[in-house]
Amino acid sequence: MSIPDIAIINATILPMGGAEKIENGSLTISGDSITAVGPAASVSTAGAKKLIDANDRVVMPGFVNCHTHIASNMLLRGLLEDVQLFEWLQTMWQLKRNFDEETLYWASLMGLVEMAKSGITTFNEHFDAYRVEPQIAALCKMPLRATLGYGLADRGLYAPITDWSWKALHRFGDKVSLHHRTRNDRVHVALSPHAPYSCGPEMFKLVRQVADAHKVVIHTHLSEGMQEIIYVKETYGTTPVQWVQSLGFLGPDVTAAHATQLNDDDIRILAETGTRIAHCPCCNAKLNSGTLRLRSVREAGIPVGLATDGPASHNALDMFQEMKFAGMIHKDKTGDVEFMKTSELLELATTGAAAAMNRPETGRLAVGRKADVIIVDLDKPHCMPVYDVAAALVYSARADDVVTTICDGQILMEDRVLPGIDETEIRHRFRERALALRCRSLN
Ligand SMILES: [Zn+2]
Repeated sequence: MSIPDIAIINATILPMGGAEKIENGSLTISGDSITAVGPAASVSTAGAKKLIDANDRVVMPGFVNCHTHIASNMLLRGLLEDVQLFEWLQTMWQLKRNFDEETLYWASLMGLVEMAKSGITTFNEHFDAYRVEPQIAALCKMPLRATLGYGLADRGLYAPITDWSWKALHRFGDKVSLHHRTRNDRVHVALSPHAPYSCGPEMFKLVRQVADAHKVVIHTHLSEGMQEIIYVKETYGTTPVQWVQSLGFLGPDVTAAHATQLNDDDIRILAETGTRIAHCPCCNAKLNSGTLRLRSVREAGIPVGLATDGPASHNALDMFQEMKFAGMIHKDKTGDVEFMKTSELLELATTGAAAAMNRPETGRLAVGRKADVIIVDLDKPHCMPVYDVAAALVYSARADDVVTTICDGQILMEDRVLPGIDETEIRHRFRERALALRCRSLN
């Protein structure tokens, strides 16, 4: 048995992935992977280079945020409220068209800091109409696990990025060789056609070809709200799901964000093609986009995970809020108080979300999985008296209750402190640039 790099002891462990809770558990990490997890008596922590006493706190997998837009949306948070999706996108575009690299760098870093502090260790970034490279630079400072989807579009509001999108698609091999499966396999690249109202049929078809050729995944918005449904019906005579299916686009490598407007045929097609769903209940309710038919989707066997969407529409990179709201809205919509249970909501935010974004190496604590681990302190007034750990995590805990965040075996936060990160400077630089961007974009 090798000596662990990190050993966590005295923990209440929620391994997820269907495994039972472990009281007085220990977990060991060597390099980037989990080497043991179980009751204290069964795990050797002898000689560990770093010993973390969890003091009975909860140890669980880092959250997986399977649909978000951090760089752009950090700059758009709180910019416009109380409108529907298409009007909202219109105003967002006024700022997006003025993005510059340095602003995107500080925005990305701020978003990574927010996620690390809220216990998110893996995220699925959809870059709608802006540069990916500043975020890759920010990931050097704050190394989370990420799939970075290059944003693509050729019409409507996003017409200005048409030329860039085709070029990126035709030369996607360059992006793959530069960035795919780099940083010890933490960083993957993906293709992110924006949506059925912003990409035409030729673009969806070429995305499928490029994805197959380079074996990269696809991450798109699909069936998000009535405005999209009406547009696709009037333009192509069908539903968004059935339209992209007719182009040969869907498959198990596709993560479809939202899917709030599915009919029975759409659900059958998503299940048959193995397509995955990123479920963003907070954003969907706020933009009045509808509610995913979660029960039908799960019964059909479609992999589904929770996600925050961007901080412009949620408005927080906080999976605790997402779990709580998912629990509440589905009880309300189905009229069934047993749907969903707290253990199921926790699965949706970890193992489920990892499956939904095709990153099965994370999202659960098991030997051989990546060491993406968080420690959550429930010894707080708003969680007391903690009769049930899952109930406390889903309905009472807050992002700030995460005390330690480990990703890929590296400690990114310990006792709420981010080693090597000057958070004050990041906040200052980010805010300064965000205000300047707004000033030069809106009259
Ligand atoms: Zn989105």
